[in-house]
Amino acid sequence: MSATPVTISQLTPEQQAVVMGQKAFLANITEQTWMAHRTYGTFQIPGRKDDEKYSLTEISPRTGSIDLGDKRKLDFPISAREIADDLSREINSDAGDASYFGVFVCAGEVPTEAELDRARHRLEEFYKKQVFIADQEWERTHNYMVITDVQRRAARGLGLEKEWSYEPKPLVDCPACGEKVKPGVAVCRACGAILDRAKALQFGLLPAEAGPAVPSLAGPTVPMSGDPTLSGRSVVPEASTTADAGLKPGPTGAKRAK
Ligand SMILES: [Zn+2]
Repeated sequence: MSATPVTISQLTPEQQAVVMGQKAFLANITEQTWMAHRTYGTFQIPGRKDDEKYSLTEISPRTGSIDLGDKRKLDFPISAREIADDLSREINSDAGDASYFGVFVCAGEVPTEAELDRARHRLEEFYKKQVFIADQEWERTHNYMVITDVQRRAARGLGLEKEWSYEPKPLVDCPACGEKVKPGVAVCRACGAILDRAKALQFGLLPAEAGPAVPSLAGPTVPMSGDPTLSGRSVVPEASTTADAGLKPGPTGAKRAK
């Protein structure tokens, strides 16, 4: 699609000076952030924000270096355009030769509507292909393991609700016995530990205790040092999150919003 790239060494010194003064601009039309580790440097290409059509990354020229041995090395200039071309090629080919992830080099300093349209179209075609493959795999296996992240991203990108596009929630460790349990359960199935006191009470899984349930949710009373006005009072931070009061997952316990 693009013209044959000209490497900097093919240019006259005057042309080289001009090219090395130029920047290049990479547009990214997805929310995916990319890290690219190349011999000439490491680059982060941020994903676009929710309210943006694209993110823009400015690329500057760099100096590459070839080790010639004997402590000799050859430095050579790399134009911003060469870097940008290389980065977009690397990123877009992440899922195989025909893959495309919506990162492209702008002809100017910002992408034109035509460039954006072309990128969206290519991305959509790639996503459709991925969804098609995933549909077939799912039909054949009904196994979440065969569905790739790229395929899930493709379904999401196309706004498709697929049976296979839901990621099964990872299990968490029961803090009492270490068995795997589903997140959010009231009682551990393996050892019977109460993991969510409020929920257990609600569903009659606990013998009714004397007194109302709420005070017990405050947990052990820890005297608050350093603030005499608060000590002894029944002020519990985040008292409204009663559902979490009984269970304190370890640092690895994933805190799952919604
Ligand atoms: Zn347990």
